[in-house]
Amino acid sequence: MKYPCPKCEQPGISLKNKYRVGYMQDTFCEHCNVRLSANPWFLVPFSLVYMWVLAVCAFLYMFESIGMMAAVYAVIAWLVVDVLNVMLIPMTEMDG
Ligand SMILES: [Zn+2]
Repeated sequence: MKYPCPKCEQPGISLKNKYRVGYMQDTFCEHCNVRLSANPWFLVPFSLVYMWVLAVCAFLYMFESIGMMAAVYAVIAWLVVDVLNVMLIPMTEMDG
């Protein structure tokens, strides 16, 4: 399964590269070779969600004495946010 390129609209971005884009990396379309990154208007709020997940789980660990369950929650929540990241964040062409 590949993701469509915002420029040539061909499925030129692999799932792995789409995932990397969500972590502020750039990638290239296999068809038109355009340089792509995640749309910053979506990426910035998602970065805050990742921070929030860590903050909530750290809070649970320190004040709710659920111990290692906090780490389990953190991993699960992180994976959920990762899936949303790949599904929801659109890609945009990079200038230059
Ligand atoms: Zn393309």
